[in-house]
Amino acid sequence: MATVMSNLLPEVDAFLEKSLQRPLVGGKELEAADGRTFETHDPGSGDVLATVPAMGAKEIDAAVKAAQQAFDKSGWATLPPNERGAKLHRFADEVERRLNIIAQIEALDAGKIEAHAQGDVANFVATIRYFAEVAQHVSRRNILAVKGHEAWTMRHPWGPCGFIFPWNFPMLLIGWGIAPALAAGNTVVIKPAEDTPLSAIYLSHLAKEIDLPDGLINVVTGYGDTAGAAVSQHPGLRRMSFTGSPEVGRLVAEACGRNLVPAKLELGGKGAAVVFEDVDIAETAAKLVGAITFHTGQVCCDATRWLVHKKIYNKFVDECVKRLKQVKVGYQLEGSTQMGPVVNEKQRERVLRYLANGVKEGAKMILEGGRADVPGKDGHYVKPALLEGSLENVAAREEIFGPVAFLAKFEREEEAIAMVNNTDYGLANSVWSTDLGRCARVAEQMRAGNSWINAHNVFPHGVPYGGIGKSGLGGGVNSVETLFDYWRSVSVVRPL
Ligand code: NAD
Repeated sequence: MATVMSNLLPEVDAFLEKSLQRPLVGGKELEAADGRTFETHDPGSGDVLATVPAMGAKEIDAAVKAAQQAFDKSGWATLPPNERGAKLHRFADEVERRLNIIAQIEALDAGKIEAHAQGDVANFVATIRYFAEVAQHVSRRNILAVKGHEAWTMRHPWGPCGFIFPWNFPMLLIGWGIAPALAAGNTVVIKPAEDTPLSAIYLSHLAKEIDLPDGLINVVTGYGDTAGAAVSQHPGLRRMSFTGSPEVGRLVAEACGRNLVPAKLELGGKGAAVVFEDVDIAETAAKLVGAITFHTGQVCCDATRWLVHKKIYNKFVDECVKRLKQVKVGYQLEGSTQMGPVVNEKQRERVLRYLANGVKEGAKMILEGGRADVPGKDGHYVKPALLEGSLENVAAREEIFGPVAFLAKFEREEEAIAMVNNTDYGLANSVWSTDLGRCARVAEQMRAGNSWINAHNVFPHGVPYGGIGKSGLGGGVNSVETLFDYWRSVSVVRPL
């Protein structure tokens, strides 16, 4: 459909040529029965990329039925773990072979810098491989030593599992979500965000092309309050995983609660970075500037509150301002761009509104952000910004989801920990110091799912990831913990 750019890969051009991007459900292309569609845009140029079916309850029901049918009949659920692992490795290999194609589609759809989109697809591949491997080495039958009884537990896959994803890391999050579910023997229904449906649609076609069973991976597209709501309310799904805002997370959890479907929630954050006086100022500033500008700050676990020891505060701020001023804002597929657009105009307005309201509530603007213009592109660009002031300020309390950091000073370690923990969120924080004993101490006391030392945004496979409080429920993502979520357990007992 689109004639977006001339330097796209031929496969991407061919993909975008389709007049309607239909995802696969039960191995067949599906569109909305009432013919409704929506458009997805390139956030960097505003151009229409594709037209996509706007599905509703009827199509979601068809997808759940297809997933149930594949669970019951395709043999996926009962395959020996090593054979399922081999099929998942093939899936990972085939995604890897198309890494540049998928990454370009993702970069266009999500406004991501191409190299970052390539990193996301590589992460998807690594996640599938990790779970394909791990699942083979977990015993599903466990003997229990119980006096006077023969007893054991047996783990079974649940059946069709639902997934609702946000727009900031579509491919990467699809991997984090579905890899453990598939490796455990389940089938999946994926609802990508309406802003970024294309990589999921591509994936559903690839699954068919490489002969994964029809109905194993079903993708449904549409708006949140229709398609998303229908997924979260469907009683035929055995598990639900939602990644997105706390507001919608609550709705999804309520709907799942009514059906008694277990729900895993990965929600927003308001992470802190605690910077002690003994750090290398230039290096730490460079890393935090890198974190807050990465994907234009649209990162749930970002360091958005920078708590800096008062001895180095002024120097640290100067260093950050200098570096942030040098960040090149531009179109995401231009090689020299360091920070691309935000996903849509609503998101840009949100960032600008928080800056204005933060200042209205008394925050000082250390580096003025605001709209950025990129010549020749009608995209949603903003400049990075730094605010300072009371942590009670709205811009310090609420998730902005843009390249905005809020600075505050501290003097004592306990004071810094209290400042970090004074939030309803609990996703990820970092601590920066050359004293590793102090780092470990602080890291363990920060109240959140994840603490990082001398780094921010670190996700090695095998380390559980997830949030608490307003940041989520369930956690364990990317590790063996979440694999267990995708098996139900039956206890078997015989009195002796
Ligand atoms: P969002 O909550 O608006 O949308 C997320 C998904 O939910 C989309 O697919 C949307 O269509 C769907 N949805 C919307 N209304 C719905 C409803 N009533 N019922 C069911 N589904 C519905 O979030 P967003 O704006 O796409 O993403 C940004 C948010 O996601 C931020 O808060 C961010 O922190 C969070 N996030 C969290 C993680 C994590 O791992 N914790 C990762 C990425 C993003």
